[in-house]
Amino acid sequence: MDDRKPLSMNRRQWLYGAGLVAGASHFATAMPEGQAERPPAPKPLDLSQYEPKSMLRVHETRVERAKFSLIDIHTHISVSTKSEAGVELSGDRQYLGSPQELLGVMDRKNIRAMVNLTGGYEKGLAEAVTKYDRAYAGRFFTFTEPSYSRFLELDFPRVQAQAIEQSHRDGARGLKILKTLGLYLRDKITTGKLVKIDDPRFDPMWDVCGQLNIPVAIHVSDPIAFFTPTDRFNERYEELNNHPDWSFYGGDFPSNEELLAARDRVIARHPKTQFVVLHVGNFAEDLGNVSENLDHYPNMHVDIAARIGELGRQPRTSRKFFERFQDRILFGTDATPHGDDYPQQVFNDKLYEIYFRFLETEDEYFDYAPAKIPPQGRWQIYGINLPDEILKKVYYENAARLLRV
Ligand SMILES: [Zn+2]
Repeated sequence: MDDRKPLSMNRRQWLYGAGLVAGASHFATAMPEGQAERPPAPKPLDLSQYEPKSMLRVHETRVERAKFSLIDIHTHISVSTKSEAGVELSGDRQYLGSPQELLGVMDRKNIRAMVNLTGGYEKGLAEAVTKYDRAYAGRFFTFTEPSYSRFLELDFPRVQAQAIEQSHRDGARGLKILKTLGLYLRDKITTGKLVKIDDPRFDPMWDVCGQLNIPVAIHVSDPIAFFTPTDRFNERYEELNNHPDWSFYGGDFPSNEELLAARDRVIARHPKTQFVVLHVGNFAEDLGNVSENLDHYPNMHVDIAARIGELGRQPRTSRKFFERFQDRILFGTDATPHGDDYPQQVFNDKLYEIYFRFLETEDEYFDYAPAKIPPQGRWQIYGINLPDEILKKVYYENAARLLRV
């Protein structure tokens, strides 16, 4: 009985009905009586308010517990009590989570040990080791850090190397370098010219780690988007907008390339020292580059902390990367107790479940962080379903070998 209706429509009406004219809401009011009214055109939306829900129906696996017991090589249980212009000036520690609180999550998730990278130095380091490593043997390992507050002392190179030896005697299991070196530490500590990562004043420090057979966990540079303008082309615009101080574009900051090149010179110059280059060598956007470096430097390793967003958006390239470098990739998260402002690294059950899902399943298109809005860029990730043999190495064996546990 509706046979005649199309005849009464003009061409535009017909296109509208067939869905071929988008957003023609002004036209809705002109629709003949009896036709459904179209909703008004939506108002422009503030990007920060946009929370699209995926309509995709694909398999979801909940991995509550890691398939094999693991070591998280990259966590921050304590931080310095004093820092200025990005430079930590005290070895003393402020604790972010009690051992009891951490052990609950660790036992549920099958985490045998957590490595607290930011353990400080001198009294602070010794105290952190006593509170965690010694009180719960085998569950916590603490790393020491450089004493930048002593950087202006004339014999700093020797003083720093000796400080590492002392920390090692006090129980430190490695040395952690924050991106302070290269991006914050200056000639006069907080002022003057930026100190280069391969500044020879640090040579004895790198060497002594090799002599003591303790690894150096080094964070150099940052995501490549942090070195480009925070504009409409920046794929991490929202993140940089939320944390403007994370941008290293402009000013007297070196380029990402310069930072990585200086780091590479350090790794080349100290072949007996084992370097764990954190955050997938800090170039997870370019696994070709990371692979070349791993090929080049047998003393280089990487962790995957806070970079499953990158790895998981290139699952086929990532899977090949894990197959090829299965003996030199370490499980890490950057987990920080109560780090709610940075959901990609907040220490909780959910965060670990996402890592397990990425490594152990072939699930598709899921969130890489427990957050309403993807915090490191608007995309989703895919699992890489590693075989057991590789999982065991990444979860535990590679870290155990470097930590000698
Ligand atoms: Zn970290």
